[in-house]
Amino acid sequence: MEMDQLVALCKRRGFLFQSSEIYGGLNGFWDYGPLGAELKRNIKECWWRSMTQLRDDVVGLDASIIMHPRIWEASGHTSTFSDLMVDCLLTKKRFRADQIEPQSGTVYFYSGATDAGSGKESKDAFSVLLPAGKPPESARKAATQFYQQRGLEKPTPLGERTEAVLNTTRYNPENGSLLTEPRPFNLMLKTYVGPVESADNVSYLRPETAQAIFVQFKNALEVSRQRVPFGICQIGKAFRNEINPRNFTFRSREFEQMELEYFIRPDEVVQKVAGSVASLAGSQPSTLNPQPNWGWELWHKYWVEQRMHWYESIGLGRDRLVEYWQKKEELAHYAKATVDILYKFPFGTQELEGIAARGDFDLAQHQKFSGKSMEYFDEEAKAKYVPHVIEPSAGVDRLALALICNAYCEDEAPDEKGKLETRVVMRFHPRIAPIKVAVFPLLKNKPTLVQKAKEVRELLRPHMSVFYDEAGAIGRRYRRQDEAGTPYGVTIDFDTLGEQGPELKDTVTLRDRDTMKQERVKITELAPRLLEKLR
Ligand code: ATP
Repeated sequence: MEMDQLVALCKRRGFLFQSSEIYGGLNGFWDYGPLGAELKRNIKECWWRSMTQLRDDVVGLDASIIMHPRIWEASGHTSTFSDLMVDCLLTKKRFRADQIEPQSGTVYFYSGATDAGSGKESKDAFSVLLPAGKPPESARKAATQFYQQRGLEKPTPLGERTEAVLNTTRYNPENGSLLTEPRPFNLMLKTYVGPVESADNVSYLRPETAQAIFVQFKNALEVSRQRVPFGICQIGKAFRNEINPRNFTFRSREFEQMELEYFIRPDEVVQKVAGSVASLAGSQPSTLNPQPNWGWELWHKYWVEQRMHWYESIGLGRDRLVEYWQKKEELAHYAKATVDILYKFPFGTQELEGIAARGDFDLAQHQKFSGKSMEYFDEEAKAKYVPHVIEPSAGVDRLALALICNAYCEDEAPDEKGKLETRVVMRFHPRIAPIKVAVFPLLKNKPTLVQKAKEVRELLRPHMSVFYDEAGAIGRRYRRQDEAGTPYGVTIDFDTLGEQGPELKDTVTLRDRDTMKQERVKITELAPRLLEKLR
């Protein structure tokens, strides 16, 4: 499947729209249409349910987006949350330095230029990369443009010399122009809080939800009466002024995160209480059944497993995911281990979630910067310590995109006359499908059918999202729901009304989106049957 097809389907069916579309859009921002909004809600609800409601040891938090600016100093975001960027010297277009594809060709160097008419000169060096086969004139043209931008009306570029280069990333892949030296660009979006736009009032839109959890660690701990190990989770918006938003919603400037901070005992404390620390390399105990002697390694592995299971439970099979264990040299300075869960997108295998063992870095930093203790008194260990943390951090939007890519399928289905035609079907897992069931009266001009269908709709509505559709041929109505990814279709026909005999009265046909098989089901059995599949 091509990404273009998917983008078109997302717009046509209302999964995703470009933000501010009627004003030409805003790069890096997206809106979820009617189906997309339902999909996204379902993702978040599934995550929330599995992370906190179905567990005893995790509580939730919903913190503000703008927080005290000192938080970002403590976390390191003010000083180090940056990407290296480069600008095109001709067009000023900005790129992320690590995203420039290596190129080969001939570089044309110029040492400066003069303008005979005005007598002006420029001593600025410039160079252009030409791929094999391009005439030297295009290099001269680019150089002329460069020196014109420096105030020379009719420049003559000087000192031309050439050099063959291999795999350079110093030139703009779009026009060959030299790029500026890489320099850091802070990704946090800045704003001012209060009526005065002064340096004292600078604040940031949070670049991640995690820090709010750390700074509310003590409050959440006290009110929830949890004991280490326990976790605090949060879903919310995050903002990053990404240099090159790309791959549809994959890299956006506004997105949502689902993050858990799971606080554990430092290994020394585990050793003291349990007498030993079980490690990954040891006896390979089940990583799904937490034990008192688990150190950080096993807790980390446990969360990787939990998260993989969760992805499977919403229809992302292990065959579509990659569990990537970061190498030592790739780890952030505070991380002991990080596993990225990657999805095989059509544009490449890329990160959905990162699961990091972060030691006590975050709480210790906030203790230092705020002057408030972040220590926990462990009654069993009779010791005070700053808990360590395992952080599974996922993006809602990346997951929505992965689920859309994963669901997209083309197969063949018979049309009205029984002829096979191509059908686009979104095979969403029923748990996350935007609409769970569509209800159709066979004909819209038969009031008895319509009335019965509306009764069925009302019966199902308290339990799940239902779509009622009476317009057009039944085959076409099925096809529309296939494209929306609705897993079940219920049709009310003359049998339902008992017109063909009493044994089929109050039964309907239940159609399965994937197999297209239809079976006769009693109306009274519909809700329990469907709920079974949605749970
Ligand atoms: P990347 O390397 O792709 O920029 P990251 O490693 O910086 O991502 P984290 O800081 O670990 O990402 O954020 C956790 C999760 O938040 C990511 O796994 C991803 O799902 C999501 N996320 C991060 N940045 C973006 C973005 N710009 N757009 C959409 N989702 C994002």
